[in-house]
Formats: sequence, structure tokens, C-alpha cells
Amino acid sequence: MGVDQQPLGDNIITASLDGLVNWARKSSIWPMTFGLACCAIEMMATGASHHDLDRFGIIFRASPRQSDCIIIAGTVTKKMLPVIKTVYEQMPEPKWVVAMGACACSGGIFDTYSVVQGIDEALPVDVYIPGCPPRPEALLFGLMKLQDKIMKEKNSFGSSIGLGERLEPAA
Ligand code: SF4
Repeated sequence: MGVDQQPLGDNIITASLDGLVNWARKSSIWPMTFGLACCAIEMMATGASHHDLDRFGIIFRASPRQSDCIIIAGTVTKKMLPVIKTVYEQMPEPKWVVAMGACACSGGIFDTYSVVQGIDEALPVDVYIPGCPPRPEALLFGLMKLQDKIMKEKNSFGSSIGLGERLEPAA
């Protein structure tokens, strides 16, 4: 029975538990306040009034304990990588990773000894956003793609109470 079929009247809708949990999660993505280089300026612009991430329920948090998303916005140096891993590990499950910009996706123009050639060497990336830097519209689009991905997850609730695994769609 779908939400568009309402045999029980206008005041009752039915939905799957997965659908409700996923909808709640995708409507309240809270990214870490965490930037690494020039891409972070675009990330800040995306959160500011003109583009207004809050309208999607996306609100930056200043603690990994309160965050379920990390946007890798900028060049990842080998010196910084352990710090990024620590922040990621402090975030509770479920959590998602967005690689913003050429540097985070692949090292960008910095093919050097000191730069990680893509954050996916260390973290499981859910969405890649190309560009140098990507504009706020591109970050918004990437976050909307993340919302689509969250909506396709299976057993979100069951896994949170210890029943089986959370099944994520392919990246
Ligand atoms: S992708 Fe470009 S804008 Fe973004 S951090 Fe790298 S050099 Fe800076």
C-alpha cells in the first residue's frame, strides 16, 4: 500500500519504517564544521544566507559527537590525515563522507610527496564533487545526491538496534 493510496481516509498515511527513518536522516544531515583549504571558503558560502543550507535541515555542528557527515573541503596533507581520521572515528554511526573539490577527490594539482591523492584512500566516500573549487551550487547538488542515497538505504532502523547490517546503495 503506497502513500498515494489512502483507503483509510485523508488523515492516515502508511509508509515503511525504513522510509520514515531514512526521511528523518536525510532531512537532518549535520556536517562537521571542518575545512582544510580554499574549498572550505565555498563550503562556508554554501552555509551562508544566500544559499542557505538550513532549509534542507543541513546544519553545521562544532563537535564530531553531534555530526553525521564530514565534508572533506580542501587539500588533504599527509600531516593532516591522522587528524581527519580521528574526527571521523569520533562521529557516531550512521555517518557519511563528501569529497568536495579536486584535491579531496584525487589530490588535484598537488601531485606531491606531502598530499594524499584522494581522501578515499582513508575514508569511505559517499559523494564526490568535482571542481576547483566547486561552486556552492555544486556542493548543494552533491548534498542532494547524498540525500537521495540515504533514502535508498535498507534496514536503517534495524541496524541501529542491533538487528542485521545497514545496507547502503552503491556509491
Ligand atoms: S580543489 Fe582547488 S579550490 Fe579546492 S582546495 Fe584544491 S586547490 Fe583549493
